[in-house]
Amino acid sequence: MFKKLSLFVLAAACSVGTTFAQTQPCGTDEHYQQLLKEYPQLAELEEQFNSQLTAGFAAKGTAAAEDTTWYDVPLVVHIVHDYGFNFEFIPDNTIYEAVKLWALAYVKNNPELSSVIPTFVPWVGNARTRLHLATKDPYGNPTKGVVRHYSYLTYKGSDQSKFAPWPNNKYMNIWFTRTIGNSGAAAYAYYPSSAAAMPHYDGVISLYDYIDRSNTIPHEIGHCLNLQHVWGNTNNPAVACGNDQVDDTPPTKGHTPGCIASAIYDTACATGYAKTYTSSSGMMDSVVNYPDTVNAQNIMDYTYCAAMFTKGQCFRMRTALTSPTAGRSNLWSAGNLAVTGALNPMPDLPPVAEFCVNKGVGGSTSDARTRFLAFNSPINFSFRNMSWNDTLSGVTWNFSNGASTPTSTSLTTVNSTFSVPGWVTVSLTATSNAGSNTIVNKQAVYAADTTPVGTAGYTQNFVSATDIANWPMFNHYENQFRWQFYNGAGKDDNSCVRFRSFDTSNRRTGTATGDLDDFITPAFDLAGITGNLYFNFYSAGASTNPGGFGTSKVFDSMQVDVSSSGGAVWTRLASFRTTDLANNGVSSTEFVPGSSSTWVGRTVSIPTSHRNRQTYFRFRMLAGNGGNNVYIDNVGISPFGTDVQDVVANGNGKSIIVYPNPSANGATIMYHAGNDGSMKFTIRDMAGRVVYEGTRNATPNATNTEFIPRSAVGTPGMYIVSLSTGDNFSTARMVVY
Ligand SMILES: [Zn+2]
Repeated sequence: MFKKLSLFVLAAACSVGTTFAQTQPCGTDEHYQQLLKEYPQLAELEEQFNSQLTAGFAAKGTAAAEDTTWYDVPLVVHIVHDYGFNFEFIPDNTIYEAVKLWALAYVKNNPELSSVIPTFVPWVGNARTRLHLATKDPYGNPTKGVVRHYSYLTYKGSDQSKFAPWPNNKYMNIWFTRTIGNSGAAAYAYYPSSAAAMPHYDGVISLYDYIDRSNTIPHEIGHCLNLQHVWGNTNNPAVACGNDQVDDTPPTKGHTPGCIASAIYDTACATGYAKTYTSSSGMMDSVVNYPDTVNAQNIMDYTYCAAMFTKGQCFRMRTALTSPTAGRSNLWSAGNLAVTGALNPMPDLPPVAEFCVNKGVGGSTSDARTRFLAFNSPINFSFRNMSWNDTLSGVTWNFSNGASTPTSTSLTTVNSTFSVPGWVTVSLTATSNAGSNTIVNKQAVYAADTTPVGTAGYTQNFVSATDIANWPMFNHYENQFRWQFYNGAGKDDNSCVRFRSFDTSNRRTGTATGDLDDFITPAFDLAGITGNLYFNFYSAGASTNPGGFGTSKVFDSMQVDVSSSGGAVWTRLASFRTTDLANNGVSSTEFVPGSSSTWVGRTVSIPTSHRNRQTYFRFRMLAGNGGNNVYIDNVGISPFGTDVQDVVANGNGKSIIVYPNPSANGATIMYHAGNDGSMKFTIRDMAGRVVYEGTRNATPNATNTEFIPRSAVGTPGMYIVSLSTGDNFSTARMVVY
């Protein structure tokens, strides 16, 4: 039996019609509508679910919302991070405290309730739902209910960022990231009917700084428990009057962010709002006169003064919790509470040792993180302790490679230089009252050798894996998308280096889009070289079709950078992207280069300002979900572009190249050696007199160089260079001044 309520008309403040430029608090509708487009049958499921609810509410009435069952729900919080200290790497205690706050909204005990306007005080509902961080993980191991995932996908905040969900019929999963998608929303979630269709994406994903702001997470958990926005789920707020299929939240347009009187006392859509319910006997109708003021303080509105759920909403959420749809009814079952340890106190567990590499200190650096520097660099590598999971009583650091700070007990950062070139091993042991944990990273940073491996004329063909010994490859995010030596294809042989961008796993999360990895050359001595000088290489690539729901195609792109400061500062020289990098079109299988024509020569000009005794080059791959593998071969330094160099490299016997030409300080002859590698050269003046000659054992079937010192040719003038490689004979003119 429903009590008739008096109708109150409250004074409404003038709306000034301001639109707020702030981002939408929630992207749930956008994702729901997108899902509907892809899976139209969801609408039917949704309708069935809703009609059951409406029938239930009409039959039981608001009294049913006051039933006294308590529902306990286990939670797991996932932090998807890029070690953003003071950003998305949210401290443990902040998470624990935030969960306690979320829980208050679900037991009608949140502090904002005191601000609810009198009209709605009688309508405040109690969801009688207790939220708990799980104390056992899916394998039965003890946990504090928080897990951390290191990934670039913290910057993409999407379904692809929902790493390693715990089974959604046992835990409610909540992820935090640095940013959320492209929509500018702060957070989103899926309704149970959607979640049932894709359980691996079930749960809440939110910006890290909304963890304890404006009831954002209770709002999203509301969606997980089948609550719509108070204006419904078909459009943005402040557009048209709508309803959320909950009777005691009056029809409303909803409100954009702004906790102002015109929102709180808005009656635009609800004047005279009442509902008639027919009893099961059909003998007696009862009319409930609901408030004519909309419920702008509802947690499912956007006002940012979210304070309450109504009784009808609580009924709807509790009904979702008793439905098997998306496994909700299992969450609070006695068996599941035992399996997840949700009712147990948080255990005391040892820390998880972790560290990250900061931007270098002691000079100017241009990378957000510095993992490559010449050894004995005046700039320090910088390491930050990021251990978590317990309050630390101490840490112990150990560094290899002749570190200037070989050990440390710093709880924050350690700065160090290294006197021995190569990969540096860093170990960190973190200790608390509950035990200790050690992490060892054998490729934490790279102290680069400063001895040049070559100058103009150098070419690296990557014939064997040992050829990349001092060409460090950084797999920054420690995933499958990475640089590696490849045996199976090559420009002129059967090996090269590749970036493996093709996704070989049938993954639902963890797209390559956003990954970033580096491949860096040894030092080259380019000091004093004037005139044209190029960083040359060949590449072969393809694109593919992206997989997975809701992913748009993003191509791979690759940058070539130079550093003449020992890796401290990098300058962009070139970018190769989209179909230019993917020069072999679309391949639905993993791309492997075939004939020579699948390769394209790349010529990158080296500015004179970056030519010194230690010039390094860096390939930086920015992977996309539409990428396939990219292969790199025959990396070299030359005064000629790859097209000219190619004539020599292909050894057609007609060409040798002399550079610089004219020259004042000596010149280099570039040539292609034959099968036996023999080479004989002669330099004659214009009178035909031999002024300089020699024989060499050159590298067979490869590009070689021979330096002619200025002192060898005497007076300025023109000379003839003759060069024989056993199967070929070539001549060229050389001008000396
Ligand atoms: Zn929402």
